[in-house]
Amino acid sequence: MVVLPPVEDKPALLISACLLGVACNHEGRGSPRAVVEELGRRYRLIPVCPEVLGGLSTPRPAAEMTGGDGAAVLDGRAVVVNVDGHDVTAAYRRGAEAAVMLARATGATRAVLKARSPSCGSSRVYDGTFSRRLIEGQGVTAAALRAAGVDVCSDEDGPAGGGPAAPTAGQPS
Ligand code: SF4
Repeated sequence: MVVLPPVEDKPALLISACLLGVACNHEGRGSPRAVVEELGRRYRLIPVCPEVLGGLSTPRPAAEMTGGDGAAVLDGRAVVVNVDGHDVTAAYRRGAEAAVMLARATGATRAVLKARSPSCGSSRVYDGTFSRRLIEGQGVTAAALRAAGVDVCSDEDGPAGGGPAAPTAGQPS
């Protein structure tokens, strides 16, 4: 894939689109975060919603992984099932692939993703029982981006939940 020169002199940062206020979550709402303004001063923000890119509608039934986390979904050892009992694994995998392609096309080597999502969660996700129980694990897109070498954190990580620290001179971004 050809990587075009950046249009701004700021490092690219992939960010969950709902954190910017885009109404793309399963309830048809956004999850705007104040930290985005600060991140936007330091990074070229590249919004991405893997579930929309994977072909799912908005709004859509809630979904959770069962049998493992996002890494296991990519390995074929786990699946993503929505609350109506439909297997939506293919859409989640498609969205994860699209996010990786977007990172490569824009040169983004870091990502700030929405916590706890079956796509974007980076350290804890729901356990597949739709009972709001969290387990250690990552979402499908977080796993795919990490496998592609992207540094992933959540909107709740970093100093005071402020996402990643600003890049410093010489630090890969
Ligand atoms: Fe937000 Fe990610 Fe869910 Fe899209 S898939 S609504 S970007 S958490």
